[in-house]
Amino acid sequence: MTAPTAFYRGYVTGGKRAGQVRRLHILRPTGTPSTGPGGLGYCGTAAWKCQHSDPVFVSPLPARPPDGLQWCPACVGRYAESVGLLGEIAAEVAAWDPGLVSA
Ligand SMILES: [Zn+2]
Repeated sequence: MTAPTAFYRGYVTGGKRAGQVRRLHILRPTGTPSTGPGGLGYCGTAAWKCQHSDPVFVSPLPARPPDGLQWCPACVGRYAESVGLLGEIAAEVAAWDPGLVSA
């Protein structure tokens, strides 16, 4: 298994990231029959070059997303399932105490 890769949408040729880009996705290694390997994030976000927006790849997965981005919840959940960590994460969520969060 190769190291997982994250990506987000950027502008063409390495330009500044668009302000509306907020999610760091995880690249699906197998793709789909129509896109081939690595064409999509686990959530379905396109990882190919679009008009005025190139994907920016981050490999290996960073411990934290780059400034201004947050993990895509769908990608993290589906990736966790694919590597056998979903049960552990679910147990942490179930044990989480909302009373610990300060208002
Ligand atoms: Zn995603």
